[in-house]
Amino acid sequence: MDVRRMLIGGELVEAASGRTFEVVDPCRVETVGRVPQGGAEDVDRAVAAARRAFDEGPWPAMAPEERVRLLLDVADRLEARQDELMALESRQAGIPIRKTTLMDIPVGLEMFRSMVRASLRVARYEPLPWIDFPAVSWNFVLREPVGVCAGICAWNFPWLFAMWKSAPALAMGNTLVLKPASYTPLTALEFARACVEAGLPPGVVNVVTGGGGTVGAALCEHPGVDKVSFTGSTEVGREVQRRAAATVKRVTLELGGKSPNIVLPDADLALAVDGALFAAFFNAGQACEAGTRLLLHEAIHEEFLERLRERIGRVRVGDTADFETTMGPLITEGQRRKVEEYIRSAREEGATLLCGGGRPKDVPPGWFVEPTVFAGVTPGMRIFREEIFGPVLAVTRFGTLDEAVALANDTTYGLAAAVWSRDTLGALDLARRIRAGTVWINDYHLIHADAPFGGYKQSGRGRELGRYGLEEYTEIKHVHVDQIGPDRDRKFWFDYVMNRE
Ligand code: NAD
Repeated sequence: MDVRRMLIGGELVEAASGRTFEVVDPCRVETVGRVPQGGAEDVDRAVAAARRAFDEGPWPAMAPEERVRLLLDVADRLEARQDELMALESRQAGIPIRKTTLMDIPVGLEMFRSMVRASLRVARYEPLPWIDFPAVSWNFVLREPVGVCAGICAWNFPWLFAMWKSAPALAMGNTLVLKPASYTPLTALEFARACVEAGLPPGVVNVVTGGGGTVGAALCEHPGVDKVSFTGSTEVGREVQRRAAATVKRVTLELGGKSPNIVLPDADLALAVDGALFAAFFNAGQACEAGTRLLLHEAIHEEFLERLRERIGRVRVGDTADFETTMGPLITEGQRRKVEEYIRSAREEGATLLCGGGRPKDVPPGWFVEPTVFAGVTPGMRIFREEIFGPVLAVTRFGTLDEAVALANDTTYGLAAAVWSRDTLGALDLARRIRAGTVWINDYHLIHADAPFGGYKQSGRGRELGRYGLEEYTEIKHVHVDQIGPDRDRKFWFDYVMNRE
């Protein structure tokens, strides 16, 4: 049995309790490996190591170029074994090997490199405009690392999140305790190994595996942690914020979504149909930004659904090890149960099943659900309002643009949206009216390392990626340097406290 170790203070270690838990391939329902079952004691050790590395170690004060050199070396080492990472990511998360090969691993590594390099462009020193009243002084702003950062990740894109949490935190001079999701810790442990091999100072990166309620909760509450960056559900995000409040930690949250995908009558329909399938069924619908509410203009509604039914067979569900497979299973049996419960609720509430709705045949024994489309969905229905996190698309019809905007914004979420139209200016006008952190026009899911990603409303707070994401890992310090001159005795504001006559 393949038993991995986690990283604390530069050492690959077991959990203090000696306990381990298994990681299961959701496609074949086979054990992929075992990892340490971390607990509060391991969090204490990891935070102490990260604290030491930050307070006493070379990392925060190191020349940024040197940090970048070391981090790019980590990326090179990972790239050298990317075939292994592609296979491991596919098996632990039930993601088709086609996608981990073409997207997750190489794109994750490129995003890591891109953020690390971009850190050199974040101004660490910014002069403020000349100030000569009341004191003649030189004023400037320093951007400094926040300190010890905890990165808590979801399971749907385990590798991407390991890259998104680590690159900006480390490049900006922070130290890190990374907690991968308990279903998918294996590739994050490979990242840990590469950090050791590249010679990062001990304690700069720590990876603790274990449960959310234990390791995750302990990180949120720990007084030695300065910032928590969390990716996961809105429900747990609220708890993270609550737990972090006692020590007033910096918190960034990347949470759930129920994103609208709007098709206008002048759209390129062939493109928009494939785009709608891509938006909804990418990663088996287990994507926070998934376009799960398809809003169709009434003029193209019937034709669009007809085309959708024709094209849905191109989404190939099956064995994740087969390169032709484009959609794998859901992460767990519990997740499948939850998705099937939503399918039942849609039927009961009167939505029309257009395709799917069941379990596919002739697939491995894992947690598969067919790509499913419901038409006639109204805003009162649960599948319109709640995040399903599975391959279920809800279609709603609209008549006017105002109606489309009202439907799009009729949600507690605000992560992403898309508009399909040949009229770019019209689409831009709609994009402005939608309350979401990302709006694509004639595309979907394209998240750039240089562009901010994050949510309005209950989809989160703060942004990841780009300059915006890097800045979230900094504190801003104002420095005021008095220009002691001939008027040094005329600091009249001292008179607020004492009579100096
Ligand atoms: P989750 O909220 O159940 O878990 C996320 C992480 O938090 C895991 O590592 C988990 O172990 C940990 N955790 C659980 N309980 C905790 C607690 N009490 N304190 C601290 N940490 C705790 O989410 P999930 O099921 O892993 O992921 C699916 C959810 O994540 C969906 O809602 C999805 O929309 C969201 N998501 C958001 C983004 C985004 O960038 N906005 C990206 C991916 C996923």
